[in-house]
Order: sequence, then C-alpha cells, then structure tokens
Amino acid sequence: MATVGIERKQPASTEEMCTAKSGAKQGEGLRQYYLQHIHELQLNLRQKTHNLNRLEAQRNELNSRVRMLREELQLLQEPGSYVGEVVKVMGKNKVLVKVHPEGKYVVDIDKNIDITKITPSTRVALRNDSYVLHLILPSKVDPLVNLMKVEKVPDSTYDMIGGLDQQIKEIKEVIELPIKHPELFESLGIAQPKGVLLYGPPGTGKTLLARAVAHHTDCTFIRVSGSELVQKYIGEGSRMVRELFVMAREHAPSIIFMDEIDSIGSARMESGSGNGDSEVQRTMLELLNQLDGFEASNKIKVLMATNRIDILDQALLRPGRIDRKIEFPNPNEESRLDILKIHSRRMNLMRGIDLKKIAEKMNGASGAELKAVCTEAGMFALRERRVHVTQEDFEMAVAKVMKKETEKNMSLRKLWK
Ligand code: ATP
Repeated sequence: MATVGIERKQPASTEEMCTAKSGAKQGEGLRQYYLQHIHELQLNLRQKTHNLNRLEAQRNELNSRVRMLREELQLLQEPGSYVGEVVKVMGKNKVLVKVHPEGKYVVDIDKNIDITKITPSTRVALRNDSYVLHLILPSKVDPLVNLMKVEKVPDSTYDMIGGLDQQIKEIKEVIELPIKHPELFESLGIAQPKGVLLYGPPGTGKTLLARAVAHHTDCTFIRVSGSELVQKYIGEGSRMVRELFVMAREHAPSIIFMDEIDSIGSARMESGSGNGDSEVQRTMLELLNQLDGFEASNKIKVLMATNRIDILDQALLRPGRIDRKIEFPNPNEESRLDILKIHSRRMNLMRGIDLKKIAEKMNGASGAELKAVCTEAGMFALRERRVHVTQEDFEMAVAKVMKKETEKNMSLRKLWK
C-alpha cells in the first residue's frame, strides 16, 4: 500500500513542478518584455529630448534673425541723411558743414555727439529734415587701397635678423630716431629724412628689416609693390599713389614700404616710349609729387626697395626726396652663420651639428637661401620619420638649394648667349 501511495504521489509532484517551472518562465518572459519595452521607451525619450533641444536652438536662431531683420527694416524705413564734410567747428554746439551740391550750412549737433571728435574734413551725416548732425562717418578710403597689405605693427624684430648690423644701425638713425625723438631734429633745426632706399640682390632681408623697424617704432606697415601699382591697378597708378599717402596719414605713425620700386621708378626712356610707359611715368610723377608734398615731421616714413639701383631715375634720389641709400649685400660667412642659427633656433638639431661648416659651403648665398636650407634639412628628416635633424640632412639640403641656384644661373647664361 505504501508503495502504491508513493507511486501515486510521484506524478502529482512532477505536474506541480512543471506548472511552477512554466510559471517562472512566463515571469521571466514578462520581465524581459517589460525591460525591453522600458529600454525602447528610454531610447525614444532620449531622441525626443534631443529633438526638442535642436528645435529650441533653431527657434532661438530664427528669433534673433527676425530681430535683426526688424532692425534693418526700421533703418531702411528711416528718412535718409545728407552726407557732408566739416569745414569748421563754430562755438560749442554749431558746426559749419559743406554738403556737396547744395552748399555750406551752419548746423546743430545731436546731443550724443562729442564735439571734440569733430575736426575739419571729418565726414558726417545730417538729418534730412532738421539738418542736425547726428552721426560721424568713417573717412572714405578707396576700396582698391584696401587690397594693399596693411599690418598694424608687424611681428618681426631686430633679433630675427642675422648679420646686417651696419644696416640696422643706419636705418635706426634715419627712421627710428626721428619717429621716437622728433624734438632732437627740431632743436638742431634740421629737416628729418623722409625715407630711405634699400637696395641689393633678392632675398637679402630688405623686407624683413623694414617690418622690424615698423615693429620697434609701433608703426603701421603699409606694403605695396611697384609692379602691382602699374599692373594691378591699370590706369589708376597715380590715383593709387595719392590714396596710399592719404591712408598713411590716417594710420600715422606709419611706414610705407614700396617694393620693386624700379618698375615705376626706372630712368625715363628717351623719345619713342610707348603708351604703356606714359602710364608708368604718370605714376612716377605722382610719387615724386607726393614725396615733395608731405612733411617728414608728420610721422610718415617711406622705405623703398629695389634689386636694380642702376636703372633707377635720379629724380627719385634727389636731396629732399629719398636721398639716403642703404646697401644689402649677400651675407658674408659670419653673417651666414648668424642667419643659419636664427632659422634653426626652433629646430630639433642633433647634438654637435657644425653649422659653421654649412655656412662655409654656402658662399654667395642670400638670406632667403639660408632659410631654405634649414627648411629643406627639416624636410629630409621628416621624410625619414626622424625627430632630429642631422648634419647629413643639412649637407643634402645645401646641395639641393645650391644646385637649384646653379641651374638658374645656367639657364640665364643660356638666355644671354
Ligand atoms: P626681394 O628683393 O626679393 O623682395 P628681400 O631682400 O626683401 O627680397 P626678404 O623678403 O626680406 O628679402 O627675405 C626673404 C626671407 O629670407 C625672409 O623671410 C627672411 O626670413 C630670410 N632672410 C633674408 N635675409 C635674412 C637675414 N639677414 N636674417 C635672417 N633672415 C633673413
């Protein structure tokens, strides 16, 4: 009986176990289902929040555009103003203004205008109904002049120049001293030099020194090339020269650096010069005119550079114009070493590199070529994925740079034959 009892009990407990098992399975399944569902909902939520942020950013952007357009619209709907030029400030709140076709008016000034900022020849705007001066306008500079390279105090310094000690000394005397201590010239009663001509072969540091002087005197550096004046601004050369001096006056103290001056200042041909030359001549005459016209004491200095002093018009170099000359020869061995040291200062050189040997090998090379050798040496190291530059890199760089030079000379010689 007992065995029967046992036999009967067995199937019942397996059934129970099965139901318990399937219950647990179902529970697990449900749990998985809900977990997945929660996960999906979380993803969805994240996406929606992201969308919301994006749309909010878009809304802000569009709002600010609407605000800008509204302001613009308001400006457009305002009545126009007359543009005039101040002739004279009269008393505390009256100004005499010339409005172009109409004539001169004595006008009141708006309360937010500072009368001390108004000087003769300032451009101003007058309200069209009451003629009250309500705005000081920026002075008009020809947009073409903006194409010239203007640097507000360049970053070159004297210690970036190798050799050229004599040249630095001379240029300090002619440019730096008068700008920094004009009183010395006044008390002696002598006229300040207006400028100086820098001449010598290409790549000898003329531009570099000019920029360094501008840096040390806190001058604006306005650079223009003579060939650009006659080629880029065809027919406008003389006007551009005029505008150039206007701009220099506005940015004073300033240094005008005219590169390749030989392309406008070459000796005038005798009879038979073509039309193209007369444009060059007009530019040159305007330049002479401007040089005569400006006062050296008003903090504008003119530096001119050329590779061809032999063909320059003597009129340009007459006393009272650019009567000082500074020669820039190719560097000697000592200067070459200096220049190499300057340009390799920031390079990661192998210990014990003999730059003196490199300088010895580069007889007749210019500063620009010495700089090129340093760059090339770095490139050789780079190609071999090294982080140090070796003596051999320098040797190869010299061979490469100097070879280019001899090839250039050869082809020039062929041309002359
Ligand atoms: P160009 O007559 O062709 O206008 P340049 O005499 O004005 O030439 P720069 O433009 O001054 O020559 O020089 C070219 C480059 O050579 C400069 O970037 C400068 O780094 C380097 N260089 C020339 N001379 C020197 C020097 N004495 N010391 C240091 N670097 C120099």
